[in-house]
Amino acid sequence: MKERISALRLKIAKERLDGLVITDLANIRYLIGYSGDNGLLILTKNTSLFFTDFRYQEQSKREVKNATIKIWNRNLFEVFPVTELKGVKKLGFEAESLSYSNYRRIKQQLKKIKFVPTENWTIQLRSVKDNEELRLIRRAVAINDSVFAKIIKQIKPGITEKDLAAEIDYLIKQQGEVAFPTIVGAGRNGALPHYQPGTKRIKKGETVVLDFGTKYQGYCSDMTRTVFVGKATKKIKEIYSIVLEAQGRALAAIKSGVRAATIDAQARDYITKKGYGRYFGHSLGHGVGLVVHENPALAKTSKAILENNNVVTVEPGIYLPDWGGVRIEDLVRVTKNGCENLIKSPKELLEL
Ligand code: ZN
Ligand code: ZN
Repeated sequence: MKERISALRLKIAKERLDGLVITDLANIRYLIGYSGDNGLLILTKNTSLFFTDFRYQEQSKREVKNATIKIWNRNLFEVFPVTELKGVKKLGFEAESLSYSNYRRIKQQLKKIKFVPTENWTIQLRSVKDNEELRLIRRAVAINDSVFAKIIKQIKPGITEKDLAAEIDYLIKQQGEVAFPTIVGAGRNGALPHYQPGTKRIKKGETVVLDFGTKYQGYCSDMTRTVFVGKATKKIKEIYSIVLEAQGRALAAIKSGVRAATIDAQARDYITKKGYGRYFGHSLGHGVGLVVHENPALAKTSKAILENNNVVTVEPGIYLPDWGGVRIEDLVRVTKNGCENLIKSPKELLEL
């Protein structure tokens, strides 16, 4: 964790600032280990100060590393700790996280200190995972794999989407936390990429899209499988094989140094060639870590270049409005020569 702060300090110095105010809670967790809901980290050349309120006093003592803990007002911005900023002339803040009202509150109190926006500094550091992070992500993935192996036995005609989602959540919670709202979309509902499970009962002859993730000690996994209830029809076999092949092409192209947009194109061009391009309306994938959607994005418009130890999803899909959807999502670690697929759950079309 110390190296993470050093890397950020290097960036602060390089950009000629005297300090940085970190307000994004995932960034704070990444830098000093704090996992609570109220906190503010101020990093200068020689000091690392963490502010929180009384409710998190004990938790901070247990969690915080490489920072001095200061118990402050519940509203951390109302009285900003200006007295702690001796020698600071230019102070950065996280433009993507600090709200405008809190920005104004701080600015009023800074007087002679210049308050400068920065963008995505820590988030960019977070996109390359270290060994400890990889260990936790692997664990989150393993839990997801074990949940999938159990849940496919419960997918039967008559069970509702909501009940199935609740079963998934229960299995996840036995070993971790739910990383994001679980998606169970049966039949036509599978055509909505971010569908919320409802009271619809699963029927024979339908696809079921299952998209769920586990959070383990702060780190997320993310996986989608699409299964078929009954004997697969020609149509589902066709769509499924296109999505699987598109994913395979993208996976085969991944390695450090390659543009993220190129990976997106591998899958998208194939689906388009097969005539379903307009039914694949979202980007191919995203980074995963402390937050389920982070850098780098695997998207048409992405400027990112893949780096060793990025962890990204690869999740092409085809969504036909009156029919349903197929999405297959894996989570991989980018390496120098290719990628390591962290997910072990089977990918052939399961007929349940
Ligand atoms: Zn997902
Ligand atoms: Zn995803």
